[in-house]
Amino acid sequence: MTTEQFYQIFLKAKKVTIDSRKIEKNDIFFAFSGDNFDAATLAEKAVDQGALAVIVENKEFENSDKNIFYVPSTLEFLQKLSIHHRNQLNIPVIGLTGSNGKTTTKELIHAVLSQKYKVQYTFGNLNNHIGVPLTLLSIKPEHEMAVIEMGANHQKEIELLCDIAKPNFGYITNFGKAHLEGFGGFEGVIKGKSELYDYLKNTNQTVLVNENDLTQLEKTQDYQSKITFGKTDSDYYFEPFSEEHFIGLKYKDKNALSKLTGDYNFTNLCAAASFGLHFGIDFGQIKSALESYTPTNMRSQIVKKDNKTLVLDTYNANPSSMFASLHNFITFEGSKTIIIGDMLELGNESREEHQIILNLAQNLGFNEIITVGKQFKNVNSDSKAFDNTEELTQYLKDNKIQSQNILLKASRGISLEKAIDFI
Ligand code: ATP
Ligand code: MG
Repeated sequence: MTTEQFYQIFLKAKKVTIDSRKIEKNDIFFAFSGDNFDAATLAEKAVDQGALAVIVENKEFENSDKNIFYVPSTLEFLQKLSIHHRNQLNIPVIGLTGSNGKTTTKELIHAVLSQKYKVQYTFGNLNNHIGVPLTLLSIKPEHEMAVIEMGANHQKEIELLCDIAKPNFGYITNFGKAHLEGFGGFEGVIKGKSELYDYLKNTNQTVLVNENDLTQLEKTQDYQSKITFGKTDSDYYFEPFSEEHFIGLKYKDKNALSKLTGDYNFTNLCAAASFGLHFGIDFGQIKSALESYTPTNMRSQIVKKDNKTLVLDTYNANPSSMFASLHNFITFEGSKTIIIGDMLELGNESREEHQIILNLAQNLGFNEIITVGKQFKNVNSDSKAFDNTEELTQYLKDNKIQSQNILLKASRGISLEKAIDFI
């Protein structure tokens, strides 16, 4: 069975899924084997559930006549099928990567472009070597554009994702200290993320550049096709403003106030507005898109609880986003408690980076500093250094936080959101 042959079946399918619980009639199911389940058992069940086709890499299905197709590698076949599908599409595909802010920017760009076009985009955070193919395969004939988030934690990953998604437009949100372990330090991050730039340059596609970011400027200086923002003489110039902790942008004599907190979200808004203007959407519509986008995903989210202001940023954390978040939070009026959890995947720079963040927090002068996780505990000799979120919640049951403003920020693995109910 070649990719081209199977593509004809794909065109008749409702959707492609790798999750056996989500199979509906006429779906294509890719059976990846996991630790707790065996793809072969799932395959037979999928056919009973009405799957149009099932892809497996178990040799026992080599001669199956039950719509179960054997391939040497399900992953490779998924990627090949998505590449084939991508090659048939004649729509602008925007590729996004960066250390922080990809999902937020992707959601904002989608909100803006949807004012005028039917846009498909990465669902949630499905941004890896499986998620990107799945997103591409979800693009239907009615879609006029696509926004694809590309994540990476080591070299050559973005290169692979670009070869699959073949973006016509690309933007790197920022270069930060994230996944230092896999990338081999900060220089490694720049190199790895820049694989998107390399792809765009080699294929003569268009890059969006924040001209206030020196690395972006330098890396894209000899590019043919650029859309720029950041400086007064850039293609688009926006100015930041904020109101009640929310960040907004001014464009000419108009403005748009988002429901996101944090200065760092300004560039995310600028990127979305720039793409909007580039694709012929007027600022009035851009404004309404940016103003109605509400984060619900523990990213830069503000929640009011019993007269207290909570900043929920527990979706992820790394030194760059922690730095930005603390600087944003210190500007809040009234007393302030920070609950910060470990920043994971920092390799042998971990101890130093946690020390730097703790020093910063102490210097900024928050009323109360609470840390969660072993990495912070290593450098924090204070009594309010907890091993994990469970220990923190035990403490919170007996000790109510007095501050008016409370920031919660940590890496996903710390599950800090579990403490919210105890505040
Ligand atoms: P992931 O690697 O998990 O996919 P992501 O790049 O998609 O992360 P988001 O989920 O959009 O990033 O944002 C995560 C957090 O990063 C935000 O809650 C915020 O604290 C911080 N952040 C967002 N945008 C920026 C930015 N432009 N610069 C620095 N930090 C940012
Ligand atoms: Mg993301």
